[in-house]
Amino acid sequence: MASPFIIIDPGHGGFDPGAVSGGVQEKDITLKVSKQLQGLLQQAGFRVLLTRETDQALGPNVPADLNKRVAVCNSNKPDFILSVHVNAGGGTGAEIYVYDDGGSIRPLAQKMVENVSTLVGYHGKPVKSSTETPQGGLAMVDNTHAPAALIELFFIDSSDRQKAMASIDLFAEQMAQALCEFYNLPYPNRQTQTTLAPQAPYDHARVLAQGVANRGLISDPDLWEKVLKGQIQPDRQWIQVLFENIVKKV
Ligand SMILES: [Zn+2]
Repeated sequence: MASPFIIIDPGHGGFDPGAVSGGVQEKDITLKVSKQLQGLLQQAGFRVLLTRETDQALGPNVPADLNKRVAVCNSNKPDFILSVHVNAGGGTGAEIYVYDDGGSIRPLAQKMVENVSTLVGYHGKPVKSSTETPQGGLAMVDNTHAPAALIELFFIDSSDRQKAMASIDLFAEQMAQALCEFYNLPYPNRQTQTTLAPQAPYDHARVLAQGVANRGLISDPDLWEKVLKGQIQPDRQWIQVLFENIVKKV
């Protein structure tokens, strides 16, 4: 079987920041997560194309930008298109949009949003039709020929934000796992990443992370346990929150 060919579309870019809140811009998150997802999928054996690889729009205004993204998808004939977005409007949780009932990729969409919901929960019904958006349709889902889904990872303007930014590197992993499962490819092992930091003994990492959480300096001991064990790399923002909390407490 030929390698599955996936197009990942990092929402917004350039003049269009997408949703903005608390100093965080949707376009930066979608690009970061999309690139991480691309890396994981390529390791797993997928062919992957991004509609943008830098902070740029594909047209001078939003309709032209979307038309170009759709054209890129339709000329490359992928097996699946994933448009990555971050929500706004005051809710919480993840949701995914598909064309009509999703057809052949419905189980993939379902699994993907289920995995992402382990980080931030769901926003209402997990899998929705593109007609259920406030604008009644989504160019990336409706106008593309290949099966497509648009995922809203979390709400940038709600209590989701801090939680999501603290585990931002996990979104791509959750989506990659769903894609590997659906296309029957092994999820890549993260050996190269785990060797970046020395492995602390399991109990030691747990005790340390829990101890720091008990002092109110971090909110997610599970996450920091993974950092201590070298399983994930800390985001600069987590370190900043940790330092801010230390300064507040002493
Ligand atoms: Zn968006």
